[in-house]
Amino acid sequence: MALGRIARGGVFGQLRNTSITSFRRWNSRIAVKGKVVEMDGDEMTRVIWAQIKEKLILPHLSLDIEYFDLGLEERDRTQDQVTVDAAFAILRHGVGIKCATITPDEARVEEFNLSRMWKSPNGTIRGILNGTVFREPILCDNIPKLVPGWKRAIVCGRHAYGDQYSAQDMVFSGAGRLEMKFTSEANPTDPQVLHVQTRSGDAVRKWCGLTMFNTSESITGFANACFQTAILKEWPLYLSTKNTILKRYDGLFKDIFQDIYDSQYKAKFKELGIWYEHRLIDDMVAQCLKSDGGFVWALKNYDGDVLSDIVAQGYGSLGLMTSCLVTPDGKTMESEAAHGTVTRHWRRYQQNEETSTNPIASIFAWTRGLAHRAKLDSNEELAQFCAILESVCIDTIQAGDMTKDLAICVKGSSATSDDYIETLKFMDLLGKNLTKRLQSR
Ligand code: NAP
Ligand code: MG
Repeated sequence: MALGRIARGGVFGQLRNTSITSFRRWNSRIAVKGKVVEMDGDEMTRVIWAQIKEKLILPHLSLDIEYFDLGLEERDRTQDQVTVDAAFAILRHGVGIKCATITPDEARVEEFNLSRMWKSPNGTIRGILNGTVFREPILCDNIPKLVPGWKRAIVCGRHAYGDQYSAQDMVFSGAGRLEMKFTSEANPTDPQVLHVQTRSGDAVRKWCGLTMFNTSESITGFANACFQTAILKEWPLYLSTKNTILKRYDGLFKDIFQDIYDSQYKAKFKELGIWYEHRLIDDMVAQCLKSDGGFVWALKNYDGDVLSDIVAQGYGSLGLMTSCLVTPDGKTMESEAAHGTVTRHWRRYQQNEETSTNPIASIFAWTRGLAHRAKLDSNEELAQFCAILESVCIDTIQAGDMTKDLAICVKGSSATSDDYIETLKFMDLLGKNLTKRLQSR
């Protein structure tokens, strides 16, 4: 297919590309005991992905990678089996590191001549891991935020199951009576019926209704992933709902979180000097804007959809937003950039036109995944490497070297090509800065 596509072949293919000097340093690479699952992706992020491995990861780590190509062509060739295999490999090894991938729509089915409109790989992996997605911004002092008071990150965890997303909704005409009915399998002859609304008279034209659901299993998994993430970050956790209106529905969320906190996490939270609290969603939104950050926010499905995008925008650029999928026991993590495959830039890259695509969130996908590997293996050296690589990224930007998206955050529309660096040159610079930093230790 497309021009400029990166050669396949996984880690060994990439190793062939690494320089002689990195082979000479082979002995000084940090040994990583456990495996990581790497998932390659599509378009511009696939280009960046290969660069990250070649310039920032493989020269410094002796790493056992289980590689899966989740590029759209391979998903189509394997009837999406490769995505399922990758998800089970993450469950086996505890760490997944994923490049952004195309979620096909009609146009993509045509573009790639797909045999089916395959589901979002993220949805498939999330389903198999039963995980919760947490988004966290990367902060740089010189990148202005829309909300200037946010000095620390706000980590948004979205409950991605049920509610509006698997509801049934309906529009009806004319007068009538709307009810909600539950027929229990154990007692089918005696259904529970709740009266919702009756509209009468000739004036009634169109009206609408909706029934949605959730389950205690899913809410429990969500709650545990949130408590685990708060412990990991050592930040307080807030759950927001509208339980004053949805007393039973949102009340179930509130009660499950409180029960789990009291019985399993209270002592640990106290030891860390953090806390859990339930807040009304409207109070929480106001508090969030007034705060300086530094907390984990557990959001119901729809609230998370809307508010995590608002929070992301408040911090500046999508190129600085990370995303981690955490299982309820906190033992398995899959990390990736929150943004997509940056198709607009890819189209330019294919035409050999200049691009300035931000690789930072994709690099943090590696550091966050590897930091989790370090935690699972108690590998202090690896943990330090991850912290160094993250600080090299931030220091490079804070020294004024950045991609176009960030230059626009700083200078607005007056940013010129003097203010930003081209994609591959920026990767080279990060590689040099990392080597310098590691040598100076
Ligand atoms: P996108 O890839 O996130 O890009 C949207 C726009 O945001 C870009 O055109 C660019 O703006 C800016 N942007 C995003 N990331 C950037 C970065 N790293 N550096 C600089 N600018 C960045 O979203 P999309 O274009 O809607 O989606 C493209 C494909 O990605 C779709 O096929 C979608 O299915 C997929 N997707 C995948 C994931 C995932 O794997 N997690 C998530 C979302 C979307 P300018 O063009 O103005 O510079
Ligand atoms: Mg959204």
